Amino acid sequence: ALPVVITVDGPSGAGKGTVCAILAEALNWHLLDSGALYRITGLASDRKGIALDDEVAVAAVAANLDVRFIPTSSGVQVILEGDDVTTTIRTEEVGSLASQVAALPKVREALLQRQRDFRQAPGLIADGRDMGTVVFTDAQIKVFLTASAEERGQRRYKQLTEKGINASLPALIEDIRVRDERDSNRAVAPLRPATDATVIDSTSLSIEEVREKILLLVRQAG
Ligand code: C5P
Repeated sequence: ALPVVITVDGPSGAGKGTVCAILAEALNWHLLDSGALYRITGLASDRKGIALDDEVAVAAVAANLDVRFIPTSSGVQVILEGDDVTTTIRTEEVGSLASQVAALPKVREALLQRQRDFRQAPGLIADGRDMGTVVFTDAQIKVFLTASAEERGQRRYKQLTEKGINASLPALIEDIRVRDERDSNRAVAPLRPATDATVIDSTSLSIEEVREKILLLVRQAG
C-alpha cells in the first residue's frame, strides 16, 4: 500500500502552514509545502530573466529545479542552486511571482511528480491548494481548512503590524476576497474542497483546536 498522506488544502491565511508544520512534527511525518515549490519556481525563473508568461520556459525551470529542503529545529531551510532563499521566498513579491507561474498548466504538470515523490513512510502531510483534488486524489485523509475573509484579514493585519509594517485592515480583507475569487474560478486546479474532504472552518478555532481535529481524523482512520 502507498504510505499514508493527509492533504490540507485551503485559502491562504487559514492557518495551513502552521498547522501542517505542527502535525508533521507531532507525527514525525514528512512535510510537503507545495506553495514553496511554486514560490521557488517563480523566483528561479525571475532570476534567470525568463518572462513569467513564457509557459514552456517556466515549465522547464520547474522540471529542473535544483532545490534542497533541509529540516532544522526552526523550520525547513530552502536552498536554491546553493543559495539560501528561506526568507526570500516568503516575501509578497515572490508570492506574486508564485501565483503567476501557478496559473500555467505546464508548470503544474512539471511539478506533479516532484510533489508525489514526497509520499514516503511513515507518512506525509501535504499543504497546498490542490493536494486532495489533483496531486493525491487517493489520500487516506483529506482536509479543507478555511476561515472567513475577515478573520484571515485580521490575522494578516496582526502579522504585518507586529513586524512594524503599516497596513489597512479593510484593504487586506478586500485583497483576500479578490484572491479567493480568482483562485476559486481559475481554469487550472481551482481552489475547492475535494468531494471527500472534511471541511474545517478555523474562524473561531485556535491552532491547537485545529490540530486536535485533524489528529482525531488520523485516529479514526487508524
Ligand atoms: O501557499 P503559498 O502562499 O506559499 O502559495 C503560493 C502561491 O502558489 C499561491 O498564491 C497559489 O496560487 C500557488 N499554489 C498553487 N497550488 C498549490 C500551492 C500553492 O497554485 N498546491
